[in-house]
Amino acid sequence: MQGETQLEQGLTMQARLTIDLNAICDNWRALDALSGSAVETAAVIKADAYGLGAGKVGPALVNAGVSTFFVAQAEEGVALRAAIGNSPRIFNFSGYMKGDDQAVKEYGIIPVLNSAEQVRAYRGARCGIQLDSGMNRLGMELPEFASVALDIAAKRPELVMSHLACADEPYHPMNAAQLLAFTTMTAAMPATPKALSATGGILLGSPYHFDMTRPGIGLYGGAPFSDARPVVTLDLPVIQTRDLLAGEAVGYGASWVATRPSRIATVSSGYADGILRAAKGINLYAGETPCPVVGRISMDLITVDVTDLPEIPPHLTLLNTLQTVDTLATAAGTIGYEILTSLGSRYKRVYIGES
Ligand SMILES: *Cc1c(COP(=O)(O)O)cnc(C)c1O
Repeated sequence: MQGETQLEQGLTMQARLTIDLNAICDNWRALDALSGSAVETAAVIKADAYGLGAGKVGPALVNAGVSTFFVAQAEEGVALRAAIGNSPRIFNFSGYMKGDDQAVKEYGIIPVLNSAEQVRAYRGARCGIQLDSGMNRLGMELPEFASVALDIAAKRPELVMSHLACADEPYHPMNAAQLLAFTTMTAAMPATPKALSATGGILLGSPYHFDMTRPGIGLYGGAPFSDARPVVTLDLPVIQTRDLLAGEAVGYGASWVATRPSRIATVSSGYADGILRAAKGINLYAGETPCPVVGRISMDLITVDVTDLPEIPPHLTLLNTLQTVDTLATAAGTIGYEILTSLGSRYKRVYIGES
């Protein structure tokens, strides 16, 4: 059945992603308050601040009191440096490669050296050291670390760190095992600041805090930091509505069939914008009223059952305080990190609380 278009209303088809910088700063303060006053709380803003824009998130966090940042690539560090000025430290998790020399010298990006080879090759003045306490992803295991212990001591690293594999599961035996391994491996470096914990490790309590913590996802409102303020709102414009008879189908594969006369709204955005096609049982919200997504999510469009709404709003909301990145993640069988970092480039990004 033919529907009516909303062309006359002059709406734009661009979806709007609203990012609350005040909420990010509040989340940082809340995580900071979970460790003692002698523990520095850094901020991880790799992958463009988990997709939310390091150029905006970085300066907001500097204003909130962050003085150490972590990125995952030298290039990310260079871009961040332009946004936050010269004083904050920027560590690069991926360590050192020869091509990073300019980033190190001109932009003050500090590599977290993660192999004996990197320790020997690196000639810069400042560094961190990454140890492998059991995750087997990055960093030196004990024999490799021991083989360059003197070179490392001579470099006077600003940080020695490791990363927990299971910190989002508080009772997982890996946590205590990695804590013990890290403590043992670093026993000979009493004067070097130490860091073991990301968001999950902060929540494990003070034995895991050492001298610095490195939260990422908790800043952006995601699990396992359940007290986080939600950070993102995603509004998708309604570009068409259609009235269906019972028995008519919607979308690819005709996978959803109306069981009653139904009104279907088509909104602009789809899996090309990071709204995962695998997500099942999700809603779009008209204010606080949930409207079920029906039919398959396609590349640029999503169809929604709005039969029970008294009127059709100009946009419907996918992410809000009622349906968070973690709700969507669970519905798609993934984690909030992947939802955030998948949020697409076609959204108009609007920042709250910039100054
Ligand atoms: C990504 C990352 C973090 C931040 O982790 P969250 O779980 O997002 O808090 C900290 N440390 C390392 C080494 C990382 O790779």
